[in-house]
Amino acid sequence: MAETGAEQESRRQALVARLWRNRWLLAAGIVAVLAVYFLAGASIYVLVPALALLAAAAMLPADAERQSADAAAAIEAGGLQRLSGEYLAAAVADPLIIFDHSAAMVHANAAAFAAFGGLAPGMSLALKFRAPEMQALLDGILSGKVAADAVDYTEKLPVERTYRVSASTVGHATGLYVLVFKDQSETRRIDRMRADFIANASHELRTPLASIAGFIETLRGPARNDPAARDQFLQIMQNQTGRMARLIDDLLSLSRLEMKPYLKPGTEVDLRQTIDSVIDSLGPLAAENGLVIDREFASGWLVVPGDRDELFQVFENLLENACKYGQSGGHVTVSIVAAEDAQQPGFDVTIRDYGPGIAEEHIPRITERFYRVDVENSRTQKGTGLGLSIVKHILTRHNARLSIKSEVGKGAAFTVHLPAR
Ligand code: ADP
Repeated sequence: MAETGAEQESRRQALVARLWRNRWLLAAGIVAVLAVYFLAGASIYVLVPALALLAAAAMLPADAERQSADAAAAIEAGGLQRLSGEYLAAAVADPLIIFDHSAAMVHANAAAFAAFGGLAPGMSLALKFRAPEMQALLDGILSGKVAADAVDYTEKLPVERTYRVSASTVGHATGLYVLVFKDQSETRRIDRMRADFIANASHELRTPLASIAGFIETLRGPARNDPAARDQFLQIMQNQTGRMARLIDDLLSLSRLEMKPYLKPGTEVDLRQTIDSVIDSLGPLAAENGLVIDREFASGWLVVPGDRDELFQVFENLLENACKYGQSGGHVTVSIVAAEDAQQPGFDVTIRDYGPGIAEEHIPRITERFYRVDVENSRTQKGTGLGLSIVKHILTRHNARLSIKSEVGKGAAFTVHLPAR
């Protein structure tokens, strides 16, 4: 192996150091050789090799130095030998398979056994992974055309998972190769969610925008001289701009929440006072919808760690939904009780309405962004489809849970379980 510049330099410095350490010995040797040359009249052919031998001896490493260099080399070699392939494979968290020149499996780590059923030493990887991209990867690496390569590979069963699989040789002398599978499923899912979210948000904004553009055209054309139509259209346009503004507010709330994933520690929220303010702020909406809001608050200290503005938004969104969608029930109940849960003591805040309720199949999806049971109903109620996803986001940050219970025709109950300190 070629020496690097740094290695050459350190070798040169070691030689100079040894010469310096042996300088007196060297000087005495030179004097002795010269004395023999002059006094005994020895030949020049004796003098030159004698001096050269002296210099070489002075440059030899001392015993201690030699021992420590030997020890370092031994430790290094011993350490590497101890790191057997099996230990290395086990230390890798991703599925890893070692195979030979015939694509037969030599060894697989525990993650590989967990990810792919039916692996066994000696089995053909070309038969195990039949997808064309895996065949091409194995062929490429075994033919020696490339030393390393990677492909995307999707395993369909038992659940669909997408991997970035890289293949490489384990040093040419070993005749072994390695496959490492990096699970990309979660990243792909997040990418897909993000793309869906942008498509949904654009669609939600485009609809009112198209409607406003249409009305402007009508107002400039056929309805130019029709005051009654103009008033009606301007009212619709105002409603549509309100809808766009609400949507942008909700989108900004979500992005603000995503920008600060951790809650500021140390702040506390008085649930009684916060929920009282929420009820007061929604009083006009409740009155408009002919609803009475009942309070059933436990007595005593109702304080939890958290961010007051964020928890205000949670209860506001839930109570607003109860007032909007549970209007027909005539009243809404807001209760705070100390939670029984021994593992996580805290408080349960329940907002219950007596409206049409939510069919069972919608409940698991209702907190998804833009998911609405009835899109038209949500729009007429000035909904954006983001309220419950904001609730879920905030509750996750508070280490809190949301549970939804509903019986169609009898109403819905949204319970927030907030852990106490
Ligand atoms: P929106 O802005 O549409 O209200 P949300 O995320 O707050 O969005 O709610 C999602 C959907 O859940 C609503 O469109 C509605 O269909 C349903 N929903 C929420 N709360 C209730 C409730 N109390 N009763 C019946 N349906 C509800």
